Amino acid sequence: MAPNEFDVIVVGARCAGSPTAMLLARKGYKVLVVDKATFPSDTISTHLIHPPGVAALKRWGLLDRIAALGAPPIHTYAFDFGPLTVAGSPGTEDAPVAYGPRRTVLDKMLVDAAAESGVEIREGFTVDEITREGDHVTGVRGHDKGGAPVAERARVVVGADGRHSLVAQAVAPEHYNEKPQLLAGYYTYWSGLPMNGRFEAYIRHYCSFAAWPTSGGLTLVVAGWPFREFEAKKKDVEGNYHKVIDQAPEFAERIRAAKREERFVGTPVAGYFRKPFGPGWALAGDAGYNKDYITAFGITDAFLQAEQVATALDESFSGARPFDAAMADYQSARDKRAFPFYEFTAELASQDPPPPTLVQLVGAMQGNQEAMDGFARVNAGVTSPADFFTEANVGRIFAAAAERKAGTPG
Ligand SMILES: Cc1cc2nc3c(=O)[nH]c(=O)nc-3n(C[C@H](O)[C@H](O)[C@H](O)COP(=O)(O)OP(=O)(O)OC[C@H]3O[C@@H](n4cnc5c(N)ncnc54)[C@H](O)[C@@H]3O)c2cc1C
Repeated sequence: MAPNEFDVIVVGARCAGSPTAMLLARKGYKVLVVDKATFPSDTISTHLIHPPGVAALKRWGLLDRIAALGAPPIHTYAFDFGPLTVAGSPGTEDAPVAYGPRRTVLDKMLVDAAAESGVEIREGFTVDEITREGDHVTGVRGHDKGGAPVAERARVVVGADGRHSLVAQAVAPEHYNEKPQLLAGYYTYWSGLPMNGRFEAYIRHYCSFAAWPTSGGLTLVVAGWPFREFEAKKKDVEGNYHKVIDQAPEFAERIRAAKREERFVGTPVAGYFRKPFGPGWALAGDAGYNKDYITAFGITDAFLQAEQVATALDESFSGARPFDAAMADYQSARDKRAFPFYEFTAELASQDPPPPTLVQLVGAMQGNQEAMDGFARVNAGVTSPADFFTEANVGRIFAAAAERKAGTPG
Protein backbone atom coordinates (compact mmCIF):
# COMPACT_ATOMS: atom_id res chain seq x y z
CA MET A 1 0.00 0.00 0.00
CA ALA A 2 1.40 3.41 -0.97
CA PRO A 3 1.75 6.05 1.77
CA ASN A 4 -1.45 8.09 2.22
CA GLU A 5 -3.41 5.26 0.62
CA PHE A 6 -6.36 3.78 2.48
CA ASP A 7 -7.21 0.12 2.63
CA VAL A 8 -10.83 1.05 2.02
CA ILE A 9 -12.76 4.18 1.09
CA VAL A 10 -16.46 3.90 1.85
CA VAL A 11 -18.77 6.29 0.00
CA GLY A 12 -21.86 6.89 2.15
CA ALA A 13 -21.96 6.98 5.95
CA ARG A 14 -25.44 5.77 6.85
CA CYS A 15 -26.79 2.25 7.54
CA ALA A 16 -24.47 0.33 5.21
CA GLY A 17 -21.43 2.63 5.12
CA SER A 18 -20.62 3.42 8.74
CA PRO A 19 -20.99 -0.18 10.00
CA THR A 20 -18.88 -1.55 7.09
CA ALA A 21 -16.18 1.00 7.89
CA MET A 22 -16.43 0.42 11.64
CA LEU A 23 -16.05 -3.35 11.33
CA LEU A 24 -13.04 -3.01 8.99
CA ALA A 25 -11.35 -0.46 11.26
CA ARG A 26 -11.86 -2.80 14.21
CA LYS A 27 -9.96 -5.44 12.23
CA GLY A 28 -7.06 -2.98 11.96
CA TYR A 29 -7.60 -1.55 8.47
CA LYS A 30 -7.14 2.08 7.49
CA VAL A 31 -10.57 3.29 6.44
CA LEU A 32 -11.98 6.58 5.14
CA VAL A 33 -15.73 7.27 4.99
CA VAL A 34 -17.03 10.21 2.99
CA ASP A 35 -20.58 11.49 2.78
CA LYS A 36 -22.02 14.57 1.13
CA ALA A 37 -24.41 14.81 4.07
CA THR A 38 -23.45 16.07 7.51
CA PHE A 39 -24.70 14.39 10.67
CA PRO A 40 -27.14 14.47 12.33
CA SER A 41 -29.41 14.71 9.29
CA ASP A 42 -32.62 13.10 8.08
CA THR A 43 -33.17 11.12 4.90
CA ILE A 44 -36.33 9.87 3.18
CA SER A 45 -36.93 6.65 5.07
CA THR A 46 -39.13 5.28 7.76
CA HIS A 47 -36.94 3.44 10.22
CA LEU A 48 -38.19 0.24 11.76
CA ILE A 49 -35.21 -1.92 12.71
CA HIS A 50 -36.34 -5.53 12.97
CA PRO A 51 -34.86 -7.84 15.63
CA PRO A 52 -32.13 -9.25 13.29
CA GLY A 53 -30.92 -5.67 12.80
CA VAL A 54 -30.99 -5.14 16.57
CA ALA A 55 -29.06 -8.42 16.96
CA ALA A 56 -26.36 -7.04 14.62
CA LEU A 57 -26.11 -3.87 16.74
CA LYS A 58 -25.78 -6.11 19.80
CA ARG A 59 -22.93 -8.06 18.18
CA TRP A 60 -21.19 -4.72 17.55
CA GLY A 61 -21.59 -3.61 21.18
CA LEU A 62 -24.14 -0.92 20.25
CA LEU A 63 -27.27 -2.33 21.90
CA ASP A 64 -27.22 0.18 24.78
CA ARG A 65 -26.84 3.01 22.30
CA ILE A 66 -29.80 1.97 20.17
CA ALA A 67 -31.90 1.61 23.29
CA ALA A 68 -30.85 5.13 24.33
CA LEU A 69 -32.08 6.82 21.13
CA GLY A 70 -35.47 7.53 22.67
CA ALA A 71 -37.53 5.06 20.65
CA PRO A 72 -39.35 2.55 22.86
CA PRO A 73 -38.76 -1.18 22.31
CA ILE A 74 -41.40 -2.87 20.14
CA HIS A 75 -42.38 -6.29 21.46
CA THR A 76 -45.46 -7.06 19.35
CA TYR A 77 -46.24 -6.97 15.63
CA ALA A 78 -50.00 -6.98 14.91
CA PHE A 79 -51.48 -7.47 11.42
CA ASP A 80 -55.13 -6.47 11.18
CA PHE A 81 -56.77 -8.00 8.11
CA GLY A 82 -60.19 -6.47 8.84
CA PRO A 83 -62.21 -9.20 10.46
CA LEU A 84 -59.18 -10.93 12.01
CA THR A 85 -55.82 -9.90 13.49
CA VAL A 86 -52.60 -11.85 13.81
CA ALA A 87 -50.45 -10.53 16.67
CA GLY A 88 -47.16 -12.08 17.70
CA SER A 89 -43.69 -11.60 18.99
CA PRO A 90 -41.25 -10.63 16.23
CA GLY A 91 -38.03 -11.44 18.02
CA THR A 92 -35.83 -14.20 19.31
CA GLU A 93 -34.30 -14.90 22.71
CA ASP A 94 -31.14 -13.11 21.55
CA ALA A 95 -32.98 -10.05 20.22
CA PRO A 96 -36.57 -10.02 21.44
CA VAL A 97 -37.59 -6.54 20.29
CA ALA A 98 -37.49 -4.11 17.38
CA TYR A 99 -36.72 -0.37 17.57
CA GLY A 100 -37.79 2.55 15.39
CA PRO A 101 -35.37 5.44 16.10
CA ARG A 102 -35.37 8.49 13.81
CA ARG A 103 -32.67 8.42 11.14
CA THR A 104 -31.34 11.71 12.54
CA VAL A 105 -30.23 9.92 15.71
CA LEU A 106 -29.65 6.42 14.30
CA ASP A 107 -27.28 7.47 11.52
CA LYS A 108 -25.39 9.86 13.81
CA MET A 109 -24.90 7.04 16.31
CA LEU A 110 -23.50 4.81 13.53
CA VAL A 111 -21.14 7.55 12.28
CA ASP A 112 -19.88 8.18 15.83
CA ALA A 113 -19.32 4.46 16.45
CA ALA A 114 -17.27 4.25 13.24
CA ALA A 115 -15.19 7.28 14.25
CA GLU A 116 -14.56 5.79 17.72
CA SER A 117 -13.29 2.62 16.03
CA GLY A 118 -10.64 4.62 14.19
CA VAL A 119 -12.40 5.40 10.89
CA GLU A 120 -11.57 8.77 9.34
CA ILE A 121 -14.89 10.47 8.59
CA ARG A 122 -15.29 13.33 6.12
CA GLU A 123 -18.78 14.79 6.24
CA GLY A 124 -19.94 17.27 3.64
CA PHE A 125 -17.67 15.60 1.08
CA THR A 126 -19.21 14.78 -2.31
CA VAL A 127 -17.64 12.14 -4.51
CA ASP A 128 -17.74 13.33 -8.12
CA GLU A 129 -15.84 10.54 -9.78
CA ILE A 130 -14.31 7.12 -9.27
CA THR A 131 -10.67 6.90 -10.35
CA ARG A 132 -9.25 3.83 -12.15
CA GLU A 133 -6.18 2.31 -13.66
CA GLY A 134 -7.44 0.23 -16.56
CA ASP A 135 -10.44 -1.71 -15.22
CA HIS A 136 -9.33 -1.44 -11.63
CA VAL A 137 -10.93 1.14 -9.33
CA THR A 138 -8.19 2.97 -7.44
CA GLY A 139 -9.98 5.66 -5.45
CA VAL A 140 -12.29 8.66 -5.57
CA ARG A 141 -12.16 12.25 -6.63
CA GLY A 142 -14.49 14.72 -5.00
CA HIS A 143 -14.88 18.02 -3.22
CA ASP A 144 -15.65 19.26 0.24
CA LYS A 145 -18.14 21.97 1.11
CA GLY A 146 -15.61 24.69 0.25
CA GLY A 147 -15.34 23.22 -3.24
CA ALA A 148 -11.66 22.26 -3.02
CA PRO A 149 -11.03 19.18 -5.24
CA VAL A 150 -9.51 16.21 -3.44
CA ALA A 151 -8.37 12.81 -4.70
CA GLU A 152 -7.89 9.79 -2.43
CA ARG A 153 -6.64 6.29 -3.21
CA ALA A 154 -7.61 2.93 -1.71
CA ARG A 155 -7.22 -0.78 -2.35
CA VAL A 156 -11.02 -1.05 -2.48
CA VAL A 157 -13.79 1.54 -2.82
CA VAL A 158 -17.09 0.48 -1.23
CA GLY A 159 -20.21 2.13 -2.62
CA ALA A 160 -22.60 2.46 0.31
CA ASP A 161 -24.11 5.46 -1.39
CA GLY A 162 -27.73 4.39 -1.63
CA ARG A 163 -30.22 3.84 -4.43
CA HIS A 164 -28.73 6.48 -6.73
CA SER A 165 -25.22 5.16 -6.12
CA LEU A 166 -22.54 7.03 -8.04
CA VAL A 167 -20.17 4.11 -7.48
CA ALA A 168 -22.67 1.70 -9.09
CA GLN A 169 -23.21 4.08 -11.99
CA ALA A 170 -19.46 4.28 -12.53
CA VAL A 171 -18.77 0.55 -12.46
CA ALA A 172 -22.04 -0.40 -14.25
CA PRO A 173 -22.54 -3.80 -12.62
CA GLU A 174 -24.88 -6.50 -13.91
CA HIS A 175 -28.50 -5.92 -12.75
CA TYR A 176 -30.86 -8.82 -12.18
CA ASN A 177 -34.28 -9.71 -10.76
CA GLU A 178 -35.54 -6.16 -11.23
CA LYS A 179 -39.04 -5.05 -10.25
CA PRO A 180 -40.90 -1.86 -11.05
CA GLN A 181 -42.21 0.61 -8.49
CA LEU A 182 -45.17 -1.10 -6.82
CA LEU A 183 -46.29 1.09 -3.95
CA ALA A 184 -47.03 4.77 -3.40
CA GLY A 185 -46.64 5.45 0.31
CA TYR A 186 -46.44 8.49 2.56
CA TYR A 187 -45.50 8.89 6.20
CA THR A 188 -45.56 11.52 8.89
CA TYR A 189 -45.21 11.79 12.67
CA TRP A 190 -47.90 12.18 15.33
CA SER A 191 -47.86 13.17 19.01
CA GLY A 192 -50.54 11.89 21.36
CA LEU A 193 -50.77 8.51 19.62
CA PRO A 194 -49.43 5.93 22.09
CA MET A 195 -48.54 2.51 20.68
CA ASN A 196 -47.68 0.63 23.91
CA GLY A 197 -44.74 -1.23 22.38
CA ARG A 198 -46.71 -2.37 19.33
CA PHE A 199 -46.12 -2.21 15.59
CA GLU A 200 -49.56 -2.28 13.99
CA ALA A 201 -50.29 -2.90 10.30
CA TYR A 202 -53.75 -2.67 8.76
CA ILE A 203 -54.31 -4.48 5.47
CA ARG A 204 -57.35 -3.22 3.59
CA HIS A 205 -58.77 -3.36 0.04
CA TYR A 206 -55.93 -2.29 -2.31
CA CYS A 207 -54.35 -0.15 0.44
CA SER A 208 -52.73 -0.49 3.85
CA PHE A 209 -51.13 1.47 6.66
CA ALA A 210 -48.82 0.85 9.58
CA ALA A 211 -47.84 2.64 12.78
CA TRP A 212 -45.09 2.28 15.35
CA PRO A 213 -43.46 4.37 18.07
CA THR A 214 -40.30 6.37 17.39
CA SER A 215 -38.01 8.84 19.16
CA GLY A 216 -39.22 11.98 20.92
CA GLY A 217 -42.58 10.58 22.02
CA LEU A 218 -43.81 10.52 18.41
CA THR A 219 -45.53 7.79 16.41
CA LEU A 220 -44.82 7.21 12.74
CA VAL A 221 -47.83 6.37 10.58
CA VAL A 222 -47.27 5.35 6.96
CA ALA A 223 -50.10 4.70 4.47
CA GLY A 224 -49.94 3.42 0.92
CA TRP A 225 -51.79 2.42 -2.22
CA PRO A 226 -50.76 0.79 -5.52
CA PHE A 227 -48.24 2.69 -7.61
CA ARG A 228 -50.73 2.85 -10.51
CA GLU A 229 -52.68 5.36 -8.36
CA PHE A 230 -49.60 7.47 -7.63
CA GLU A 231 -50.27 10.27 -10.14
CA ALA A 232 -53.98 10.59 -9.42
CA LYS A 233 -53.59 10.58 -5.63
CA LYS A 234 -50.48 12.71 -5.19
CA LYS A 235 -52.57 15.86 -5.59
CA ASP A 236 -54.21 15.20 -2.23
CA VAL A 237 -51.79 13.16 -0.14
CA GLU A 238 -53.33 14.15 3.18
CA GLY A 239 -56.90 13.35 2.09
CA ASN A 240 -55.91 10.01 0.58
CA TYR A 241 -53.77 9.11 3.62
CA HIS A 242 -56.78 9.61 5.88
CA LYS A 243 -59.09 7.72 3.51
CA VAL A 244 -56.87 4.66 4.01
CA ILE A 245 -56.79 5.08 7.79
CA ASP A 246 -60.57 5.62 7.94
CA GLN A 247 -60.95 2.02 6.80
CA ALA A 248 -59.88 1.02 10.33
CA PRO A 249 -62.37 3.05 12.40
CA GLU A 250 -60.81 2.40 15.82
CA PHE A 251 -57.38 3.55 14.65
CA ALA A 252 -58.98 6.48 12.80
CA GLU A 253 -60.44 7.59 16.12
CA ARG A 254 -57.01 7.34 17.77
CA ILE A 255 -55.40 9.46 15.06
CA ARG A 256 -58.17 12.06 15.23
CA ALA A 257 -57.26 12.55 18.90
CA ALA A 258 -53.55 12.94 17.97
CA LYS A 259 -51.62 15.88 16.48
CA ARG A 260 -49.61 15.78 13.26
CA GLU A 261 -46.16 17.20 13.94
CA GLU A 262 -44.46 17.08 10.53
CA ARG A 263 -45.14 17.20 6.80
CA PHE A 264 -45.95 14.15 4.67
CA VAL A 265 -42.99 12.44 3.04
CA GLY A 266 -42.82 9.57 0.56
CA THR A 267 -41.18 8.23 -2.56
CA PRO A 268 -41.85 5.12 -4.64
CA VAL A 269 -38.86 2.83 -5.16
CA ALA A 270 -38.01 0.12 -7.69
CA GLY A 271 -36.48 -3.26 -6.87
CA TYR A 272 -33.14 -4.59 -8.14
CA PHE A 273 -30.08 -6.65 -7.41
CA ARG A 274 -26.68 -5.50 -8.64
CA LYS A 275 -23.54 -7.61 -8.75
CA PRO A 276 -21.80 -6.21 -5.66
CA PHE A 277 -18.12 -6.48 -6.53
CA GLY A 278 -15.47 -6.15 -9.20
CA PRO A 279 -11.82 -5.11 -9.48
CA GLY A 280 -11.16 -2.65 -6.66
CA TRP A 281 -14.81 -2.04 -5.77
CA ALA A 282 -17.76 -3.39 -3.77
CA LEU A 283 -21.36 -2.35 -3.13
CA ALA A 284 -23.27 -2.55 0.16
CA GLY A 285 -26.79 -1.63 1.23
CA ASP A 286 -29.23 -0.05 -1.23
CA ALA A 287 -26.38 0.57 -3.68
CA GLY A 288 -26.34 -3.17 -4.39
CA TYR A 289 -29.83 -4.43 -3.54
CA ASN A 290 -33.12 -2.61 -3.12
CA LYS A 291 -36.71 -3.64 -2.53
CA ASP A 292 -39.92 -1.88 -1.68
CA TYR A 293 -39.95 -0.53 1.87
CA ILE A 294 -43.32 -2.02 2.86
CA THR A 295 -41.54 -4.78 4.78
CA ALA A 296 -38.97 -2.38 6.26
CA PHE A 297 -36.03 -4.69 5.58
CA GLY A 298 -33.53 -2.12 4.21
CA ILE A 299 -31.72 -1.10 7.39
CA THR A 300 -31.53 -4.65 8.72
CA ASP A 301 -30.24 -5.87 5.34
CA ALA A 302 -27.67 -3.06 5.23
CA PHE A 303 -26.36 -4.13 8.67
CA LEU A 304 -26.10 -7.78 7.64
CA GLN A 305 -24.34 -6.84 4.39
CA ALA A 306 -21.89 -4.61 6.29
CA GLU A 307 -20.78 -7.69 8.22
CA GLN A 308 -20.55 -9.81 5.07
CA VAL A 309 -18.55 -7.20 3.12
CA ALA A 310 -16.19 -6.55 6.05
CA THR A 311 -15.57 -10.29 6.44
CA ALA A 312 -14.98 -10.79 2.71
CA LEU A 313 -12.58 -7.83 2.45
CA ASP A 314 -10.67 -9.01 5.53
CA GLU A 315 -10.31 -12.48 3.98
CA SER A 316 -9.02 -10.92 0.79
CA PHE A 317 -6.62 -8.40 2.42
CA SER A 318 -5.22 -11.00 4.82
CA GLY A 319 -4.49 -13.34 1.91
CA ALA A 320 -6.82 -16.03 3.31
CA ARG A 321 -8.84 -16.09 0.06
CA PRO A 322 -8.72 -14.39 -3.33
CA PHE A 323 -10.87 -11.22 -3.57
CA ASP A 324 -13.21 -12.72 -6.17
CA ALA A 325 -13.88 -15.88 -4.16
CA ALA A 326 -14.54 -14.01 -0.91
CA MET A 327 -16.80 -11.45 -2.59
CA ALA A 328 -18.68 -14.10 -4.59
CA ASP A 329 -19.59 -15.68 -1.24
CA TYR A 330 -20.85 -12.31 -0.05
CA GLN A 331 -23.03 -12.01 -3.15
CA SER A 332 -24.45 -15.51 -2.82
CA ALA A 333 -25.10 -15.15 0.94
CA ARG A 334 -26.83 -11.82 0.31
CA ASP A 335 -28.97 -13.21 -2.50
CA LYS A 336 -29.81 -16.50 -0.79
CA ARG A 337 -31.23 -14.67 2.20
CA ALA A 338 -32.84 -11.93 0.13
CA PHE A 339 -34.68 -13.77 -2.66
CA PRO A 340 -37.64 -15.18 -0.64
CA PHE A 341 -38.04 -11.89 1.28
CA TYR A 342 -37.84 -9.95 -1.99
CA GLU A 343 -40.77 -11.86 -3.52
CA PHE A 344 -42.77 -11.66 -0.27
CA THR A 345 -42.15 -7.89 -0.17
CA ALA A 346 -43.26 -7.44 -3.79
CA GLU A 347 -46.52 -9.30 -3.11
CA LEU A 348 -47.30 -7.01 -0.18
CA ALA A 349 -46.21 -3.87 -2.02
CA SER A 350 -48.59 -4.62 -4.91
CA GLN A 351 -51.43 -3.98 -2.43
CA ASP A 352 -53.41 -6.78 -4.06
CA PRO A 353 -55.86 -8.38 -1.63
CA PRO A 354 -54.29 -11.29 0.29
CA PRO A 355 -54.75 -14.56 -1.64
CA PRO A 356 -57.54 -16.87 -0.35
CA THR A 357 -55.00 -19.31 1.12
CA LEU A 358 -53.51 -16.54 3.28
CA VAL A 359 -56.98 -15.45 4.40
CA GLN A 360 -57.69 -19.05 5.44
CA LEU A 361 -54.32 -19.26 7.18
CA VAL A 362 -55.05 -16.06 9.14
CA GLY A 363 -58.27 -17.73 10.30
CA ALA A 364 -56.45 -20.93 11.22
CA MET A 365 -53.85 -19.00 13.25
CA GLN A 366 -56.49 -17.56 15.63
CA GLY A 367 -55.81 -18.94 19.10
CA ASN A 368 -52.48 -20.45 18.01
CA GLN A 369 -49.85 -18.14 19.53
CA GLU A 370 -46.92 -20.17 18.24
CA ALA A 371 -48.18 -19.77 14.65
CA MET A 372 -48.83 -16.06 15.16
CA ASP A 373 -45.31 -15.58 16.53
CA GLY A 374 -44.06 -17.44 13.46
CA PHE A 375 -45.98 -15.10 11.16
CA ALA A 376 -44.67 -12.04 13.02
CA ARG A 377 -41.13 -13.38 12.62
CA VAL A 378 -41.54 -13.73 8.86
CA ASN A 379 -42.51 -10.06 8.71
CA ALA A 380 -39.57 -9.24 10.98
CA GLY A 381 -37.03 -10.92 8.73
CA VAL A 382 -36.26 -13.56 11.37
CA THR A 383 -37.83 -16.53 9.56
CA SER A 384 -37.70 -16.85 5.79
CA PRO A 385 -41.08 -16.96 4.02
CA ALA A 386 -39.61 -20.01 2.26
CA ASP A 387 -39.49 -21.79 5.63
CA PHE A 388 -42.79 -20.55 7.09
CA PHE A 389 -45.10 -21.03 4.09
CA THR A 390 -44.08 -24.65 3.48
CA GLU A 391 -46.80 -27.20 2.89
CA ALA A 392 -45.73 -28.97 6.08
CA ASN A 393 -45.89 -25.87 8.32
CA VAL A 394 -49.13 -24.55 6.81
CA GLY A 395 -50.58 -28.07 7.08
CA ARG A 396 -49.64 -28.17 10.79
CA ILE A 397 -51.38 -24.83 11.41
CA PHE A 398 -54.58 -26.01 9.66
CA ALA A 399 -54.47 -29.36 11.50
CA ALA A 400 -54.08 -27.61 14.87
CA ALA A 401 -57.01 -25.33 14.01
CA ALA A 402 -59.15 -28.35 13.10
CA GLU A 403 -58.21 -30.03 16.40
CA ARG A 404 -59.09 -26.90 18.37
CA LYS A 405 -62.44 -26.72 16.57
CA ALA A 406 -63.16 -30.39 17.19
CA GLY A 407 -62.29 -29.94 20.87
CA THR A 408 -64.50 -26.89 21.28
CA PRO A 409 -67.74 -27.75 23.05
CA GLY A 410 -70.91 -27.06 21.06
C1 LIG B 1 -39.90 5.78 2.09
C2 LIG B 1 -38.93 4.77 2.62
C3 LIG B 1 -39.20 4.12 3.81
C4 LIG B 1 -38.31 3.17 4.31
N1 LIG B 1 -38.57 2.55 5.50
C5 LIG B 1 -37.71 1.66 6.03
C6 LIG B 1 -37.93 1.06 7.30
O1 LIG B 1 -38.93 1.33 8.01
N2 LIG B 1 -37.02 0.16 7.75
C7 LIG B 1 -35.93 -0.19 7.02
O2 LIG B 1 -35.15 -1.03 7.46
N3 LIG B 1 -35.67 0.39 5.83
C8 LIG B 1 -36.53 1.30 5.32
N4 LIG B 1 -36.26 1.90 4.12
C9 LIG B 1 -35.04 1.51 3.41
C10 LIG B 1 -33.83 2.19 4.04
O3 LIG B 1 -34.03 3.59 4.06
C11 LIG B 1 -32.59 1.87 3.23
O4 LIG B 1 -32.53 0.49 2.96
C12 LIG B 1 -31.33 2.30 3.96
O5 LIG B 1 -31.31 3.69 4.15
C13 LIG B 1 -30.10 1.89 3.15
O6 LIG B 1 -28.95 2.42 3.73
P1 LIG B 1 -27.69 2.77 2.84
O7 LIG B 1 -26.63 3.13 3.81
O8 LIG B 1 -27.46 1.68 1.87
O9 LIG B 1 -28.10 4.04 1.96
P2 LIG B 1 -28.60 5.48 2.36
O10 LIG B 1 -29.27 5.48 3.68
O11 LIG B 1 -29.38 5.97 1.18
O12 LIG B 1 -27.27 6.34 2.50
C14 LIG B 1 -26.49 6.66 1.41
C15 LIG B 1 -25.57 7.81 1.78
O13 LIG B 1 -24.67 8.00 0.68
C16 LIG B 1 -24.42 9.37 0.54
N5 LIG B 1 -24.00 9.64 -0.83
C17 LIG B 1 -24.66 9.35 -1.98
N6 LIG B 1 -23.97 9.73 -3.05
C18 LIG B 1 -22.83 10.31 -2.59
C19 LIG B 1 -21.72 10.94 -3.21
N7 LIG B 1 -21.62 11.02 -4.54
N8 LIG B 1 -20.75 11.44 -2.43
C20 LIG B 1 -20.83 11.35 -1.08
N9 LIG B 1 -21.86 10.78 -0.44
C21 LIG B 1 -22.85 10.26 -1.18
C22 LIG B 1 -25.76 10.03 0.86
O14 LIG B 1 -25.57 11.39 1.26
C23 LIG B 1 -26.28 9.14 1.99
O15 LIG B 1 -25.98 9.68 3.25
C24 LIG B 1 -37.13 2.85 3.59
C25 LIG B 1 -36.86 3.50 2.38
C26 LIG B 1 -37.74 4.45 1.90
C27 LIG B 1 -37.42 5.14 0.61
